[in-house]
Amino acid sequence: MFEEENPLLPVSWVADYAFCQWAGYAFFTGLENFEQKNTVYQDSIAGHLSVHEQQSRYREKGIVQKTDVSLSHDMLYLTGKADMVELWPEGKIVPIEYKRSVPAEGPHFHHQVQLCLQALCLEKQYQKDIPEGVIYSITSHQRVPVPLTPLLREQTLNLLSELKNKLKSGNPNMFQKRNDLLCRQCTFFEICLPPVFFDELRKTSSDFADQEEF
Ligand code: SF4
Repeated sequence: MFEEENPLLPVSWVADYAFCQWAGYAFFTGLENFEQKNTVYQDSIAGHLSVHEQQSRYREKGIVQKTDVSLSHDMLYLTGKADMVELWPEGKIVPIEYKRSVPAEGPHFHHQVQLCLQALCLEKQYQKDIPEGVIYSITSHQRVPVPLTPLLREQTLNLLSELKNKLKSGNPNMFQKRNDLLCRQCTFFEICLPPVFFDELRKTSSDFADQEEF
């Protein structure tokens, strides 16, 4: 993948990179199979069952909800899936991303980046502006709106460009590790951390098991 001039990047992997550069690197290099061991990942998969099949549902007020929607953007070299896209009768399009939970202080930045990338793809596909997306909390059934502001779009495109440059460099050392307590919830926790930090973290994070996903 590193040799390709413009590899197609799955939206979800770019969001993982926004959470932790090394996690993004691990996905790009095929280490994602480790996620089968991660209980947070398994919970998340279970919560996504209702949207991991292509369907169209008809809701009140003429809203159509499409699930498991394919995404692409030929100029940005993006591919991927949206959990759900709502098509409103007046023409509004709303990408909806399912997450296990949403912090009280608001959606994680990398989840906002994921929505923003989805919106960029959908804007290209539908030739329409998409000013807002939604994070849906699987545990609380809450819809949390995420304004797709010029700042978020700029941050997202900068991240994408940074990631592409790092992939082109072919240097894995350019991918920094997050190394904080949220690592405990990461798919790659057991394979990526330096042993000292791993032991240290394991001692201090025994009460961290029920925290939100990354
Ligand atoms: S364990 Fe932490 S540093 Fe390692 S990939 Fe996950 S988030 Fe990044």
